[in-house]
Amino acid sequence: MKAYRIATIPGDGIGKEVIPAARRVLQEMALSDGSFNVEFENFDWGGDYFREHGAMMPADGLDALRGKDAILFGSAGDPHIPDHVTLWGLRLKICQGLDQYANVRPTRILPGIDGPLKRCAPEDLNWVIVRENTEGEYSGVGGRMHQGHPIEVATDLSLMTRAGVERIHRYAFRLAQSRPRKLLTVITKSNAQRHAMVMWDEIAAEVAKEFPDVSWDKELVDAATARMVNRPASLDTIVATNLHADILSDLAAALAGSLGIAPTGNINPERLYPSMFEPIHGSAFDIMGQGIANPVGSFWSVVLLLEHLGEKSAADRLMKAIEHVTANPALHTRDLGGTATTAEVTEAVCAQVSSLA
Ligand code: ATP
Ligand code: MG
Repeated sequence: MKAYRIATIPGDGIGKEVIPAARRVLQEMALSDGSFNVEFENFDWGGDYFREHGAMMPADGLDALRGKDAILFGSAGDPHIPDHVTLWGLRLKICQGLDQYANVRPTRILPGIDGPLKRCAPEDLNWVIVRENTEGEYSGVGGRMHQGHPIEVATDLSLMTRAGVERIHRYAFRLAQSRPRKLLTVITKSNAQRHAMVMWDEIAAEVAKEFPDVSWDKELVDAATARMVNRPASLDTIVATNLHADILSDLAAALAGSLGIAPTGNINPERLYPSMFEPIHGSAFDIMGQGIANPVGSFWSVVLLLEHLGEKSAADRLMKAIEHVTANPALHTRDLGGTATTAEVTEAVCAQVSSLA
């Protein structure tokens, strides 16, 4: 029997609540499927680790991850540690170190969820946002001079490489091609940013020639936010730079009903390294330790993980179980206006998963 090696990194805040819940669900998937097994190894990296060791993860941490089939990640963030330290010290370090260059974020309004878009039907919103995940505005290149002085100068360089842009566009076109509508929107800001973003557009047009069956258009990132709200059905697959997609996907998650629901995959498409799956929400210290965090974003991330491993029927079954549970208002957590606990939602999904097997 296949045995998948899964690394779990709960991280900080509610990550410590939703990742154990996701692990329980994945275990239940394996048990009820019967054709594969999962072996977990947990890594307690994050803010507490930082306080003890002065780093968010050990220096050889990436080596420990390389041998895994996939990684389940919670969140990195701690009110007592600057955000750029937690983010760069853990999440971005893994994404860049394991060359997870495609960040993939499906967005739909699940049954029973009341999104804020009153003028359109839930089925009008069915997107996948592909985010460039290793370079661009988050390349980390830049610096500060004369810190604290009136003449202080600081830069953040948005660094894009032809190879990096080409591979993310190709990934997005291929994904668009695999979806029923075969529709891709390339997000840009080449009207105002006249170097890297112009190259981004040019390469999109080049790669498009390899995919004659995909219809594609270009949209400025500012106009895209309005289009997401006003004409959601005009979008399907969306590709954007690191920063642009970061912002658009939070908007997308809110339009789909709650930050607590949305999943993401950090994918190394060539499978040279393991890919990492995580809810898009952060550590949410305001609700930590109360047992009320919505675990659905983590469960949906497990669906993406199973799809990535090639366990399509298990992935479909888990998605059905999740939708069955979201359809029941008695199983909504507080972010969805309900009173259900993390544990209640987890048990309900596990029960549904077994009954669908
Ligand atoms: P970080 O600094 O790690 O990004 P954050 O404090 O900004 O964390 P987020 O997780 O980004 O918090 O979410 C913002 C708010 O949305 C939280 O304060 C929380 O109230 C709510 N929220 C986010 N995720 C969930 C969830 N899974 N369940 C319930 N509420 C959530
Ligand atoms: Mg946040």
